[in-house]
Amino acid sequence: MTAPGADGPLRNWAGNVTFAAQRVLQPRSMDQLQELVAASSRLRPLGSGHSFSRVADTDGDLLSLAGLPPRVEVATDGRSVTVSAGLRYGELAPQLHEAGVALHNLGSLPHICIAGALATGTHGSGDRNGALATAVRALDLVLPSGEQLHVDRSTAWFPGAVVALGSVGVVTAVTLEVQPTYDVVQVIHDDLPAAAMRDNLDEVLAAGDSVSIFTTWDPRGAEQVWVKQRTDGDRRPMPDGWLGSRTAKAPRHPVRGMPAEATTEQVGVRGPWHTRLPHFRLDHTPSAGEELQTEYLVDRSDAAAVLEAVGALHERVRPPLLVSELRSIAADDLWLSPSYGRESLAVHFTWRPEPDAVLPVVEALEGVLAPFGARPHWGKVFGTDPGALAATYPRHDLARRLRRELDPDDVFGNEFLDTYLPR
Ligand SMILES: Cc1cc2nc3c(=O)[nH]c(=O)nc-3n(C[C@H](O)[C@H](O)[C@H](O)COP(=O)(O)OP(=O)(O)OC[C@H]3O[C@@H](n4cnc5c(N)ncnc54)[C@H](O)[C@@H]3O)c2cc1C
Repeated sequence: MTAPGADGPLRNWAGNVTFAAQRVLQPRSMDQLQELVAASSRLRPLGSGHSFSRVADTDGDLLSLAGLPPRVEVATDGRSVTVSAGLRYGELAPQLHEAGVALHNLGSLPHICIAGALATGTHGSGDRNGALATAVRALDLVLPSGEQLHVDRSTAWFPGAVVALGSVGVVTAVTLEVQPTYDVVQVIHDDLPAAAMRDNLDEVLAAGDSVSIFTTWDPRGAEQVWVKQRTDGDRRPMPDGWLGSRTAKAPRHPVRGMPAEATTEQVGVRGPWHTRLPHFRLDHTPSAGEELQTEYLVDRSDAAAVLEAVGALHERVRPPLLVSELRSIAADDLWLSPSYGRESLAVHFTWRPEPDAVLPVVEALEGVLAPFGARPHWGKVFGTDPGALAATYPRHDLARRLRRELDPDDVFGNEFLDTYLPR
């Protein structure tokens, strides 16, 4: 167990959230974890602390799973793996590849822990790729009583427990669907003209198994399109000059001007899935390092109108912006997943770490995105009206009921949940 950090208060990765918690409990065994949960009246599981919102905060204790013995057990049929929930994707993925299996997708960074990423609906990109949580087949939970509960896809409320913002229990192990391992090549295309992007958005997003468009909302067009293609499918490399862009001959960082050494290998060199699907390497600082992030998921059918609405704000958006990223995500059935029930476009903003400049722009963005029922990423900075946010989730009431039933004494509650998922 860890006392408060000697070098100051507990903060998240970005440093924009100072946790109200005074300590992080770090059990070394499942027995110890269960005892700690049973004895606590206010506690909240913490992953790797990469969320920019106050989702992980608590006025009680934080509970880290990082001290538990790691577990990676691939099923004998090679179709699933059961892992300890506190592992980071970057620790798990090479072991899976070694065992001949792979996940369907990854987020932009391998640094985040599995339970923390699942809890907020973290996603990568790809028209056919659901959020990372869509790979979950089963969860082992520790309830407020300290008891363990195993739930799987046959449990009626399972879709409410996978993306649950830490509201229903401490996830200690996760069973994830896997597939035979595969290789990916990553190619960057520079300077996609605005008209080409507007008129061919579906083609651009379908150009690979995972595609990211990076833009600073320059009216002339998008600065970079990152295309990641599996080598085991019907791979069709995009030619130089594709839609008026140019194929990059050297590695890029999503933020122009930043060194590319933190990014995963590009320029078409083939490599295992986990060394290409994330944008950033585990042993480097991901993204800009000093930043805030915001992201909204909208229905894919609204993509053109949403991009036009955000583009119209470019003079306000650009000054505090480092870069925006556009990704596609397949629909799912997880009650609180931002991609619940709709094929989605994710519109992401990496901001300079300047809240006074960023927050008014976030408010302006939310003004133009409200008519589209935009769902903010739970782990990023947003200020969406709680009622309006709840109205975008058809199963919000069921998720609230699940929270009340599984946590009757509000052990796992916090201000964030009381605002966006009130009991
Ligand atoms: C540089 C950077 C890049 C990012 N890129 C992406 C991206 O590509 N795609 C994307 O969707 N998001 C992205 N994010 C956001 C990030 O994936 C989410 O905020 C994610 O939730 C962080 O995981 P974490 O382990 O740090 O969780 P934390 O922030 O520690 O916790 C998040 C939530 O998970 C809960 N939780 C943690 N552990 C458990 C547990 N064992 N049981 C139950 N609940 C638990 C916490 O209580 C909290 O509610 C990025 C963030 C950063 C900083």
